[in-house]
Amino acid sequence: MKNPTPSDSAVKPQSLEKLQLIQNFTSSLTGERGTTAPSRQVSNAMWSEVAPTPPRQPRLIAWVPEMAELLGMDIATNPEAAARIFTGAQPVDGALPYAMRYGGHQFGNWAGQLGDGRAIALGEITDRHNKLWTLQLKGAGPTPYSRQGDGYAVLRSSVREYLCSEAIYHLGIPTTRSLTLSLTGEGIDRDIFYNGNIETEQGAILCRAAESFIRFGSFQIHAAHREDDLLKQLADYVITQHYPHLCNDGSKPTIDTYQQWFNEVLERTANLVAHWQRTGFVHAVMNTDNMSILGQTIDYGPYGWLEEYDLRWTPNFVDNQGRRYSYGNQPQIALWNLYQLANAILPLFDDNTEPLQEVLSRFDPLYDSLWNDMRAAKIGLTDYTDADQDNQLLDDLWQFLEKASPDYTLFFRTLSEATFSETPETLASNLIVAFYEKPHQELLATLTHWLGLWQQRITATDQSAAQSLMTATNPKYVLRNYIAIQAIDAAEQGDFSVLEEVSSVMRKPYEDQPAFQKYAGLRPDWATQRPGCTMLTCSS
Ligand code: AMP
Ligand code: MG
Repeated sequence: MKNPTPSDSAVKPQSLEKLQLIQNFTSSLTGERGTTAPSRQVSNAMWSEVAPTPPRQPRLIAWVPEMAELLGMDIATNPEAAARIFTGAQPVDGALPYAMRYGGHQFGNWAGQLGDGRAIALGEITDRHNKLWTLQLKGAGPTPYSRQGDGYAVLRSSVREYLCSEAIYHLGIPTTRSLTLSLTGEGIDRDIFYNGNIETEQGAILCRAAESFIRFGSFQIHAAHREDDLLKQLADYVITQHYPHLCNDGSKPTIDTYQQWFNEVLERTANLVAHWQRTGFVHAVMNTDNMSILGQTIDYGPYGWLEEYDLRWTPNFVDNQGRRYSYGNQPQIALWNLYQLANAILPLFDDNTEPLQEVLSRFDPLYDSLWNDMRAAKIGLTDYTDADQDNQLLDDLWQFLEKASPDYTLFFRTLSEATFSETPETLASNLIVAFYEKPHQELLATLTHWLGLWQQRITATDQSAAQSLMTATNPKYVLRNYIAIQAIDAAEQGDFSVLEEVSSVMRKPYEDQPAFQKYAGLRPDWATQRPGCTMLTCSS
């Protein structure tokens, strides 16, 4: 599924001073007006009006021209106005700032009301293709959902989300997007490793954009409070706004419509996770409040990219014990989360579980088929048909990965660049660069044997098509934490050039960019012990 790209049409972008937002979400759904920030339990509402806290010294430090173009905004000529508008320092025409109410399961336990604790949406804007995008300020101050949090975000975590949502988009994976990144000029206290060491970090606000920020947890909160009418209102809104093809004759959704909708949510979620697995992305906090109802990647926290292939790997220090959200668990956690969504929307089915069970039972075969297709693409099988022999070839390689733990990205990229006419021994020795520790003789022999079989299989097909498929499937550049931290370190010193450079490299992850070879290599030694590279927390 490819996200839309901006049209080439040379329509002049609108001056930011004339920016006009509309209210589709708040005018269609029940919410509460005129509220103030103090944290509290909210009932019978999907959103609460709340004003951003205007920062004293907003300063724009990065923005995504492609998104500005898509949304018809002229940021280039007025960065000062952009800084004010996209931090909440200057009100926008038509805006009705609000925080969304939702609940969720965190690490497998029901956590009750969560909601936008430090994200404030302004409203929607129509893009060049007539599609609506919600603009949301992350880190714009306390809301009724802030609980013990302060409602702010630090530069470190904002840079991480800014860079990663764009990197994910350019990898061809559904995601929310970034528009602007600004400093607030405020100092924010954070205890990064939850060990009492408090540091004052720079405050920042990411303005992010998405067709919707509605999550599985948005449904769960209404189910938990038996707010059946709101549950139905929300489901009908999501279907008519975001799944219009399911009721294109304008009719009201029926139980059949709800089943088809749940089926599509499941399909999109399975597709999303298959892409994460393909590229080695570990979200690391797959709580149900971080699962988009559109099947997009949302809420970038202590994510990471697989380095040594290891199914049990997670970058999230807090999850070190249980490893619930490790790389290898992501598909089954997605299904677990879909079960929680199914429980929440059960009232729409008159409490009959059968239609939901039927859909849920499709997940495993669907996921397996998507995953096998992606694995086949990773090794260039342009004519893959799920035949036993090919599946054996795939399983053998993935067994090897488990035993030998090469760098996931570098291994597949090096394989993609292989010259098929070389001997299997030469191919194997070329792949040594992808290992942190040189594989011993027995593993090398296994690899060489596998490469021989693979070579025979590929030479029977169109080799240049095989190579094109592999280079389009196996990225050369992914936003490894050792790369993100270099952008953060420089940005914290007021140098935004690394941020610019990294974001530019990550826009073309499948293309060779010889000048940026430094971002395509193994994790360097210095990063092994560096907090923020191997160990991250949700502190943001
Ligand atoms: P996350 O794990 O970042 O998706 O956040 C989980 C929940 O904690 C959400 O309800 C967030 O809005 C909330 N939260 C995270 N950080 C803060 C903060 N600094 N202030 C208020 N709420 C926060
Ligand atoms: Mg979240």
